[in-house]
Amino acid sequence: MSSIERDVVIIGAGASGLTAATDLKKAGLTVAVLEARDRVGGRLWTDDIDGATLEIGGQWVSPDQDALIDTLAELGLETYSRYREGINVYLGEGGERRTFEGEIFPVAPTTEREIVSLIDRLDALVAEIDPDRPWDHPQAKELDEISFRRWLETQTEDEEARRNIGMFIAGAMLTKPAHAFSALQALLMAASAGSFSHLVDADFILDKRVKGGLQQVPLLLAERLGDDVFLNAPVRTLRWSDEGVTAIADGVEVRARRVILAVPPVLISRISYEPPLPRRQQQMHQHLSMGFVIKVHAVYETPFWREDGLSGTAFSPYELVHEAYDNSYHGDPRGTLVGFVSDEAADDVFRQPPEERKARILESLSHYYGEKALSPVVYYESDWGSEEWTRGAYAASFDMGGLARYGSDLRAPVGPVHFSCSDMAGRGYQHVDGAIRVGHETADAIIASLAP
Ligand code: FAD
Repeated sequence: MSSIERDVVIIGAGASGLTAATDLKKAGLTVAVLEARDRVGGRLWTDDIDGATLEIGGQWVSPDQDALIDTLAELGLETYSRYREGINVYLGEGGERRTFEGEIFPVAPTTEREIVSLIDRLDALVAEIDPDRPWDHPQAKELDEISFRRWLETQTEDEEARRNIGMFIAGAMLTKPAHAFSALQALLMAASAGSFSHLVDADFILDKRVKGGLQQVPLLLAERLGDDVFLNAPVRTLRWSDEGVTAIADGVEVRARRVILAVPPVLISRISYEPPLPRRQQQMHQHLSMGFVIKVHAVYETPFWREDGLSGTAFSPYELVHEAYDNSYHGDPRGTLVGFVSDEAADDVFRQPPEERKARILESLSHYYGEKALSPVVYYESDWGSEEWTRGAYAASFDMGGLARYGSDLRAPVGPVHFSCSDMAGRGYQHVDGAIRVGHETADAIIASLAP
């Protein structure tokens, strides 16, 4: 076991921890980043699967994500647009296939009116929410006591409108069933992206990708930090007091003045604390849980859907794969589709043997794109639920009532212990932008606290 001393020890080499470490080092402080895995990046991971370059975790960048966009520019990374020319596909109840352009799905005129009206109402509410302080909204407590599903039921009788609006936050973002999180949590999700309309607009929220994959961000940050990043170093124990901390990882022990826990909040309790974290933190961290989604890639010899005039963008609140896109990799002449199977649907298919699961998922894709979708040359399911150092996807959110009750304490430091993660962000919540934003803020707070 080697023993070293630094000003700050950072636990977790995801986008958040590496951003904080970079800022601290720029400010003249010494750092060590301890990472449990044998790679950096956490939920950002680009890999070669059977000859196809796939982004297994986060990948898209939207125009409002200026913290991420600044980092991309600083690292000299280039972006490219998602393919989106042509018409989109929507499947109604019973599988009826309709094509459309724009954002509003081709539903009955009454349902369309309800959807537009719900989006307006949500945008108005979201405009009242400060994503960094949703608990300060005058109705925060009431909104946190009602599930998003129930709230939608109070707004409209139209089931298809409810399902579609629910899908944008539940299946597509928090990746939990709409009965499992509150209306306040849903509003935070929308406020973190600027408005509910932004979440509905796939051209906005899924705008750009990074050449070489978004994992380039943590890879390049780690490269610059060099020997200060320690892989295969899961932190098991953290001793802390007003005098400083000792982080004890496999193979290395770091004594420091401050520590940043840059891990998903569900993993904070995996570490043993001496003395234990205060009552508030021990309670609070039990009220956050990871969502769950399978990101499925299917690579084909050609992007055949483009020949049919399709953009690749497809939605249905009734399908196993509730949303899918053209995800062809920059420079690869083959065509790639990405689809998402969320929360209870993901539980359902994981009960089946892999071959049956694959057949069901491809069958669902074929409902959007036709029979050719049944025969990919490469097929891959991202399974973050079985990753010991993540345990779900995309990120963590509070249970009912948790956001109003605990939210304001989530990032409050405890003595020398600071917290930094996308799952604790306001703007950019659950996204790489939020991870970076919180990383900067946490580093600033530590720099200020250590200033002579
Ligand atoms: P993480 O990336 O989770 O990093 C935490 C790190 O801590 C990990 O490396 C972990 O191994 C390490 N760790 C945990 N415990 C310990 C320990 N005890 N000791 C040492 N190390 C430890 N975001 C977008 O912006 N756009 C997208 O398109 C997008 N799509 C996504 C798709 C999927 C499938 C997933 C999973 C996520 C997606 N996201 C997306 C979310 C985005 O990837 C995350 O919000 C972001 O990467 C989180 O960064 P982080 O540093 O906060 O946490």
